[in-house]
Amino acid sequence: MSFNTLGLSTELLHAVADQGYSEPTPIQIQAIPPILQGRDIMASAQTGTGKTAGFTLPILQRLSAQALAKGRRPIRVLILTPTRELATQVGESVHTYGKYLPLRSTVIFGGVKINPQIAKLRQGVDILVATPGRLLDHVGQKTLDLSQVEILVLDEADRMLDMGFVHDIRKILALVPQHRQTLMFSATFSPRSKGSLTICSGLPL
Ligand code: AMP
Repeated sequence: MSFNTLGLSTELLHAVADQGYSEPTPIQIQAIPPILQGRDIMASAQTGTGKTAGFTLPILQRLSAQALAKGRRPIRVLILTPTRELATQVGESVHTYGKYLPLRSTVIFGGVKINPQIAKLRQGVDILVATPGRLLDHVGQKTLDLSQVEILVLDEADRMLDMGFVHDIRKILALVPQHRQTLMFSATFSPRSKGSLTICSGLPL
């Protein structure tokens, strides 16, 4: 199986080749085509399986297939992660795989000054990677708007729930449009060690 058969654009294939990946991982083979089709998915995949590229590559493609808004760009993709470390890692992947595309992204998490994050958000970003608490701080300060989100990713959803983010996630779900694509990743949806992926029409969130 090669990356060329998954329906990814030249810019993304180029970025993947730069990383030296010779073939997609099992989660990438399973996840990339349905995400490109706009389907919701629920996938069980541990860190280290290549899951980040599995959702980042098709998301980048979906965004780049549409014309960019004139003027201030709305947040079209929101990726929630439980920790600042994971947020940083996912942000780096978005940057790496999107390097040949004219899309903007940023990462926000707590424990650091909020003002530089506000300045970045003001410039307009297409893809926002965030931890739930700091995201809601920004919502409270009206420094970001989630009303145009087209794709919502819950990365390590099980860990977010374990860490007590359930109320924050409920609040965030109420702020993003109901009509959206939702991608949910967890280490523990399935007891099968190799992971599994379910394609859903509308996740019950
Ligand atoms: P992740 O599971 O997303 O944390 O990814 C784990 C590691 O696998 C990262 O360092 C990626 O750079 C790497 N990776 C992702 N996709 C591939 C691939 N198709 N072939 C080889 N390495 C990959």
